[in-house]
Amino acid sequence: MPRYIFCTGGVVSSVGKGVTAAAIGRILKARGLKVAIQKLDPYLNVDPGTMSPYQHGEVFVTVDGAETDLDLGHYERFTDENLDRACNVTTGQIYSEVIAAERRGDYLGGTIQVVPHITNEIKRRIHLVDRNDDLDVVIVEVGGTVGDIEGQPFLEAIRQLRKEVGRSSALFVHVTFLPHIGATGELKTKPTQHSVRELRGIGIQPQVIIARADFEVSQEMCEKIALACDVDPEAVIPLVTTDNLYKIPLILEDAGLGNYLVKALELDAKPPDLAEWRRMIDKMVRAQDTVRIAIVGKYVELHDAYMSVKEALTHAAVTTNHRLEIEWIHSSDLERNKGFDQLEGVAGIVVPGGFGERGVEGKIMAARYARERNIPYLGLCLGMQVMCIEFARHVLGYEDANSSEFENKTDHAVIDLMPDQRSITKMGGTMRLGWYACDLTAGTKSAAAYGMERIQERHRHRFEFNNTYREDFENAGMVFSGFSPDGRLVEISEIKDHPFMVGSQFHPEFQSRPNRPHPLFVAFMKAAVDYDEPKDEKKTKSKVKENHVAN
Ligand code: GLN
Repeated sequence: MPRYIFCTGGVVSSVGKGVTAAAIGRILKARGLKVAIQKLDPYLNVDPGTMSPYQHGEVFVTVDGAETDLDLGHYERFTDENLDRACNVTTGQIYSEVIAAERRGDYLGGTIQVVPHITNEIKRRIHLVDRNDDLDVVIVEVGGTVGDIEGQPFLEAIRQLRKEVGRSSALFVHVTFLPHIGATGELKTKPTQHSVRELRGIGIQPQVIIARADFEVSQEMCEKIALACDVDPEAVIPLVTTDNLYKIPLILEDAGLGNYLVKALELDAKPPDLAEWRRMIDKMVRAQDTVRIAIVGKYVELHDAYMSVKEALTHAAVTTNHRLEIEWIHSSDLERNKGFDQLEGVAGIVVPGGFGERGVEGKIMAARYARERNIPYLGLCLGMQVMCIEFARHVLGYEDANSSEFENKTDHAVIDLMPDQRSITKMGGTMRLGWYACDLTAGTKSAAAYGMERIQERHRHRFEFNNTYREDFENAGMVFSGFSPDGRLVEISEIKDHPFMVGSQFHPEFQSRPNRPHPLFVAFMKAAVDYDEPKDEKKTKSKVKENHVAN
């Protein structure tokens, strides 16, 4: 029977509850414990797959093809474990299940209520995470902030669950925020006290309080919180905003949280070994030279929409001892002949995944810019598709080449709907999702990057390279370097006479970890650093003026 750590949030949202849960996972794993983390999302959508990135940020895809909350990305990156669909539960899923059971007649005429039917279903979902009985700890993060109406059934469910598994087998960690009053220059604990009072009102007494703040939190302040909230003084953990998320496990560990949790939950743990993690942070901190990479997308004002891409680039930059600087470029700006100054002098260009027509022409321009100037390019899903469209238009001369996602009247749909997608009408969860194998072609840049023949990568797409054009592309210098094992789907394409222009139909960013950077990102970063090396040459390159508007 595993132990449970329930993480709730108080005062305000967006204080890094997900990263905190992930960091707790890392410090427990460092003690030899097997950990999984689950996110309970109180919204009514069944999953975030159909939500706009403006609403939700990135959709993180698990190996088993679930479209999940971006916090799962943090959990995987910090714990270096693959999670599955059981690790993200929404109110939408809970109600769908309960209502379907009611329609089947499973409740035999009973009245269906939030308590116990909804709360029971929530508890069942939590137990699905520990269906593999080798887990030592399940960390459960409840999304939102205490006091949210839609979060109530989740809080009631975790309150009941602690009672059921026994009080020493579960504890509550409450993540709050201490606002800073500029006029007096002090941090305030009152909102924390109020949110704990609110939790107590529903029967939850937190054992640990993580006090997030933008300024140093004094010992005295921690003692005040401990006294007012009835928590052990050593269990009030200050967590000041940091420049590097990956330092958080070390901050929590050094504040004594790991030992406190082990003792409180009577865990049979080894002494913590965070030596490798500390070395990784040292390497990140020591990196002085910057490498400037452009991300050309349509949600660039919202960096959360590209969370895993940003993190994968950060991980890769560390391998070349560089500090990453991202140039965020709006693809629709390029369409208006703006933003090219931002592209000048970058060491590499990434076009990430995306859906819908808006901004696509700008992404095609970015691919052209990279191809014509020999700038390292990494295309991720849509980024691979635009790389192929660009190649068809400007190398093969098919002026109207496009993806049928954006233009279905074209004579040259070089990217087309996958046959198994043609009859699909429902939007939710119906893409080609999750892990699929891909065989690499020997002698290609991709095969060299991975150093193996068969890989498994995560997917999320409906369209694919149109095989009718394979030969045309190959004859003109495109190399298809990765295929589905049946040879049917192009998974990776790369341009032969280019330092590094590679696009993958899958999303490698979901599998990059700070301690195990993704090989494709590493190869891209090496190419970017090589490209950037002769600085003087770079400056000359950036002075070249061209008409950037695709014709
Ligand atoms: N919209 C494209 C497709 O569905 C690309 C998807 C993506 O970039 N994740 O195939």
